[in-house]
Amino acid sequence: MPRVVTFHYTLRDPSGRVLDSSAGGDPITYLEGGGQIIEGLDAQLRGTAAGAKTRVQVPAARAYGEHDPDQVHRVKRNLLPIEGELQVGDQFQTGADRFSPVVTIAAIEGDEVLLDGNPPLAGVDLTFDVEIVSAREATAEELSHGHAHGAEGCSHE
Ligand SMILES: [Zn+2]
Repeated sequence: MPRVVTFHYTLRDPSGRVLDSSAGGDPITYLEGGGQIIEGLDAQLRGTAAGAKTRVQVPAARAYGEHDPDQVHRVKRNLLPIEGELQVGDQFQTGADRFSPVVTIAAIEGDEVLLDGNPPLAGVDLTFDVEIVSAREATAEELSHGHAHGAEGCSHE
């Protein structure tokens, strides 16, 4: 039976640099197999009991995918609708609405800019230090909705 699992995590890249962490904030809650966390992490946390601390290594291919060079585009700086200074690592959306793809400035070469449309963590092998806060069997309603419910029930119709 799929479970609803709540956990804290610290995410590091292969050099040990912390990329993200839930420490000091709310833990993450997900339904196993529901697609709310990356597949490689979901798969490796199956069966891990509440209270357990574990380190999970997820290769890039099972996290945010390999880095796709076809998603990198070279454009003229003056064609970008951006005011002010650009810096490598800056991210911005390619359209007006919040679902527009995000691109990252990978390099600035003279009057040209390399825009990378890959997810920021594409091609990065990830290491998660995970502490399972709680785990319980999913309810029939959660299974039919495909996501975990909080104490207040379903937060969206
Ligand atoms: Zn629901």
